[in-house]
Amino acid sequence: MTCSFSKKEIEAFFSRLQKLEPEPKSELSYRNPYTLLVAVVLSAQATDKGVNKATAALFPAVDTPEKMVALGEAGLTQYIKTIGLYRGKAKNVIALSRALIESHGSAVPKDRAALEALPGVGRKTANVVLNVAFGEPTIAVDTHIFRVGNRTGLAPGKTPLEVEQKLEQCVPAKFKLHAHHWLILHGRYTCVARKPHCPTCVVRDLCRFADKTEEPPAAKLPARKSAAKKIAVRKPAAKRPRAAR
Ligand code: SF4
Repeated sequence: MTCSFSKKEIEAFFSRLQKLEPEPKSELSYRNPYTLLVAVVLSAQATDKGVNKATAALFPAVDTPEKMVALGEAGLTQYIKTIGLYRGKAKNVIALSRALIESHGSAVPKDRAALEALPGVGRKTANVVLNVAFGEPTIAVDTHIFRVGNRTGLAPGKTPLEVEQKLEQCVPAKFKLHAHHWLILHGRYTCVARKPHCPTCVVRDLCRFADKTEEPPAAKLPARKSAAKKIAVRKPAAKRPRAAR
């Protein structure tokens, strides 16, 4: 597999994103690896903002698998019913909490296979937990990273796994730990889905997207009366000295 950007281009791409946000953090609120895992499971097809709103009341009261099992599915549902797909998510959170108690001494495992074996935990969730809770240089490909990888030409792929593998291969080691967050932030705030903000994008010259957006044309405003008046009373310009012939 070859990288579509040269080493110089990739270096420039990530250096610029790094300059914007040297120490990027997850926008999900959490208190420990367990609450991070729960928040990521809840965030599937939901916004971080919506999840944070629900967990702001949940996590102060429930921050361990034992407390979650004691709360139970019906109790958890009361906290998270504003989040999409909450019934299935409540079921998974209770089941994964049980599994953590029974098989992992109530701790979140620092291991991809063990994480992915938990109910409701897929590759993306495992990657986020490994990266954010344990500082591993994993790149979880969500909808934003999938779009940015494809649009820019940095890591084109038909599936999230393909994009992840390309990024894995092409992102230099020194950028890997934060690449996940830089790409998410770029996709969330600049390279947005419907109308990307290309005119202000810091990687515009590197990006291969053919349909980059342009600066909107300056609005044609009717001439203001005061301006017209000013022009009318403007003194004639002082005569410039004649150039020597
Ligand atoms: S130039 Fe436009 S399409 Fe390319 S990365 Fe920037 S915002 Fe996205």
